[in-house]
This record gives sequence, C-alpha cells and structure tokens, in this order.
Amino acid sequence: MLSKSKFTRGINCQKSLWLYVHNFEARAVSEATASLFGTGINVGDLAREYFPNGVMAVEGDYPNRQSAQRTQELIAQGVETIYEATFIYNDTLVAVDLMHKQNGRWSLYEVKSTNSVKPQHIKDVAVQYYVVQGSGLELEDAYLMHFDREYVKRGAIVPTQLFKAESLLEQVLAVQSTIAVNIELFQNMLLGDEPEVLMGIQCKKPYECDFCEYCSCLPCNQKENAEAIELSTEHQVQPSKIQDFVQGLEYPICHLDFETIMPAVPMFDESRPYQQIPFQYSLHTQQHPDSEIIHSDYLAESNPDIDPRLDLITQMIAETAEAKTVLVYNLRFERDRIQEMMRDFPLYAATLQTIIDRMKDLMHPFQKKHYTTEALGRKYSIKLVLPMLCPDVSYNELEINNGMDASSKFLNLYYCPDETLIAETRHHLLKYCHLDTLAMVKILEVLQGV
Ligand code: SF4
Repeated sequence: MLSKSKFTRGINCQKSLWLYVHNFEARAVSEATASLFGTGINVGDLAREYFPNGVMAVEGDYPNRQSAQRTQELIAQGVETIYEATFIYNDTLVAVDLMHKQNGRWSLYEVKSTNSVKPQHIKDVAVQYYVVQGSGLELEDAYLMHFDREYVKRGAIVPTQLFKAESLLEQVLAVQSTIAVNIELFQNMLLGDEPEVLMGIQCKKPYECDFCEYCSCLPCNQKENAEAIELSTEHQVQPSKIQDFVQGLEYPICHLDFETIMPAVPMFDESRPYQQIPFQYSLHTQQHPDSEIIHSDYLAESNPDIDPRLDLITQMIAETAEAKTVLVYNLRFERDRIQEMMRDFPLYAATLQTIIDRMKDLMHPFQKKHYTTEALGRKYSIKLVLPMLCPDVSYNELEINNGMDASSKFLNLYYCPDETLIAETRHHLLKYCHLDTLAMVKILEVLQGV
C-alpha cells in the first residue's frame, strides 16, 4: 500500500520510491543531516498542544488498518480533535498529524518543521486531502502548520504562538486531479524493475536523497567522472588588486570565525525558530606584521539552561577591543550573526557595532577573482582556497572538518550523558575552529607576499 511519505518520495523521484520499497537497505542517512536541527524537542508533540486534549488514533509505532478503524470510531464517538487520524482510500494510507472539528466541520492540519510553506508541501497536503475526502469525510479546509519565523522565545514555548496555520485549500484543490493519476503511476511502477533515473537536482532538493550513495556508485556516474575535463590549477593573480587589499588592513589584526547551531525549536530566550546561534569562536591576533600570533577561543558549555551567546559576546568584545581590523572569511555571515546578537542583547549593541565597523573580508580577493585558478572557477570557499594557497595546511586529518558537522556534534552534546564523549567532542570542535582562523592567517601571509 502507498503512504503519504511514499507518495511524496515518488513525486520527487520514482527511483527513490522504488528503492525505498524494494531495496531499503541501500539507504544511507548522513548523521549531520539527521541531527542538524534537532533539539530533542518533539515538534509533533508541541504541535498537538495547539489543539490540546485530542485523542491519538495510532496505537503502536505506525499507522495501519487498525488506526484507520479507530479513527472512524473516534469520529463516531464525537471526538473533535484527533492526532494521527488515519484514512485509507485507493490503496493509499495517510495519517493526518491533526484533525480538528470546528462548527461541525473537519479540517486537516499537516505539521512541518519549517518557517514557511514550501512548494513540496502542496502535494503532501493534497494527497492527504484526496484520501480523507475519498474515504468519505467532508473537509472544510486543509492547513499547513509551520513555525512563525517572527516568534521569539521568552520563557516556556507557547505552541499557539510558535506555530502558524496557513490554509492551502486553494492550491490543494488545484492539484487534486493529478493525485489519482500519480497514485496509479506509482502503483504500476512499483510492480516493475528498478526505473532508470539520472542523478540531478532532485537528489539534493528539496532534501538530500538517502539513496545518493547508492546512485552515485552506478557505472554511469563513474563514467561521467572519468570523462571530466582536467582544469588548470595555475594561479591567476592581479598583484595590484591584492596589494590594495592587503594595505587596507590595519594592525592589530584579529582573525575571527564563528560556529553556530540552528535549533528548529528555539532553545534560548530571545531567539527564533532556526535562528543561527553562535556557540564558539576562534581568534588569531597579531599586533604587528612581525609579532607573534596569539590564539584564543571560546566554546560554550552544552547546558540548555545557559545561552551560549552571552559569554561569547563579552569575551569577544574584550578580545577584539584593541584590533584595528577584524578579519573574517565571508563577512556577511559573521556580520549577520553579530547584528542578530545586537538585536537580541541591546545592552551590547553599540560595542558590537564597533566590531562590524572594523570588519574586513578575506574572501574578497577570491570572490572578485583577484586571486584564482581555472579549477576554482566561481568557487571561493575557504575549504577550496586554502589548498590552492597553502597545500601544507589541511582539514583532512581532523575528526570534525566542516561547519555542518561541528554544528550537529555540538547540538548532540546537549543530550549526551557520556562525559568522555563530551570531552573528546569539545577537543575536536576546538581543533576545527582553530584551524579555520589559522587558515586565514596562512592565506593572508600568502597575499602579503604577492
Ligand atoms: S539519488 Fe537521485 S536519482 Fe537516486 S534515487 Fe535519490 S533522487 Fe533518485
């Protein structure tokens, strides 16, 4: 039988649906993707508090024919809010996150941990609408419940303010005729052999497909890689532009880099859904061109009762006070985080503004192609620029070697009871962030030599 999640999977890629049904073991979900936004708070549980005192239709782990039966019984008993209300129609099963009856009419609510309605949500709600209506229950409306991006946590989470219910009825009605067609298509496709689908944008968007590893091992991709044109790694440098950039940097110079977490449900007061919360920074400081480079850093405690930003702000203000230049790589990222901290902690706004005023972007010469290679093309992330300029400095040996990994590893510490693992992870986080600013120091040294 099809389900809502299988249907939406099939809409994105038929091969993904086929593999999910016939070759489930080939899935590989990356740890970072799985836990990047997790906060240990169950979004489904929170959403139920939007319509409290409802009755759960599913007994056990998964919705099935029994939960569909129980849903009918609950409706007959006059229950007005049902969680995981289950319906079956046209050999397709859906479990609706929330069904709520108001003024004698039912509406369905699909809960998503996003800050807005995304295009893929329309078909998701549409298949639920199709199955519920088809099973004989008239619906007044179909909503998507998502986070209200303007919600600011102050004290306990208030579910009626955290979530926003947006009617998708118009869009859902507009695609109803395609639902039955797609269901039949998928049912027939699943009876056949593995469909041939080339990898493409659907593998990454709207989500990273859990069969990427499987598909990228296929011979066609190996062939594609083998035929890739070799591009030159010869440096293309505009010396006068580089010298202008370097001369614009006044000593003392601080090289600054943040790491952030992005909890879906706000964890700290004065923060919003999916806000990027800095929890760590690394700083390499040099007083004069010939003086020793001093390193310092900050890494918050993974204690959910302590906002990581407050100590970070005060320490960063103190440690950058003397700098005439605060050098960052990708100024927009660090500047936006500081501006958010100015908004959330107005007491420090004026001093934080002085850090922004002194910021310069080390990415600039690479972004503007004043220093590049043919192989780099339009890319200029520090992870690509570093090996071009400083092949001896590498992230490869590090246990944590990218920002997403750092973010998910730190988030996991909030729920980790293992002190040894916490200590090890903190050590790796410090090493990673240290290398981010050391890489900036090394890159600047090369630019200064031009
Ligand atoms: S990796 Fe791409 S092509 Fe392969 S199943 Fe997933 S979406 Fe389809």
